[in-house]
Amino acid sequence: MSIFCLVDDKYIPVYRIMWISALPHFCGSSQCQHEGDYEIRLEHVEAVWVNQIDRDAVLEALEMWQGGLGPVDGMDDLDEMDDLDDDQ
Ligand SMILES: [Zn+2]
Repeated sequence: MSIFCLVDDKYIPVYRIMWISALPHFCGSSQCQHEGDYEIRLEHVEAVWVNQIDRDAVLEALEMWQGGLGPVDGMDDLDEMDDLDDDQ
């Protein structure tokens, strides 16, 4: 298992990822280059922006790095607790 995940044209060490947005970015600014993208926040207030497919791939890479704890499906998690036993 690599400690890097490929985001756009960059290999990012997964341990540098602070958080990953659950929802696409919307700020309403006409200058905004990232409308509809997902933010991956890194240390030192750096960030990379990706589409949903890449966001999910990064989430998966993080899960694998942590030892494969299972997918994170956002707000539905509590309803799916019963299914978690089947994941192994
Ligand atoms: Zn914006």
